[in-house]
Amino acid sequence: MSTFTCSHHNVPEDWCQLLKTDCVPGRPGCVLRGKSVFLFPVEERIREKEQARRERERESPRAGRGDSGQAEAGAAPR
Ligand code: SF4
Repeated sequence: MSTFTCSHHNVPEDWCQLLKTDCVPGRPGCVLRGKSVFLFPVEERIREKEQARRERERESPRAGRGDSGQAEAGAAPR
């Protein structure tokens, strides 16, 4: 077992600044692809991340991808 750091990882958002999408280590285009072995298949982890993002966006539509949505949160209509 190991941990990693990646210079492209926006940790608070869990966002890949290189690929402009959710950070899923080993996904196509990821710097770790082909260099690491993962316990769970990348396709499964991508699917789970996308589902979680959709649920977050459904609960809070202003919380967009890659930004915290904090700047817009105060302006959200009630
Ligand atoms: S998807 Fe890969 S390249 Fe992107 S932040 Fe995550 S580990 Fe780094």
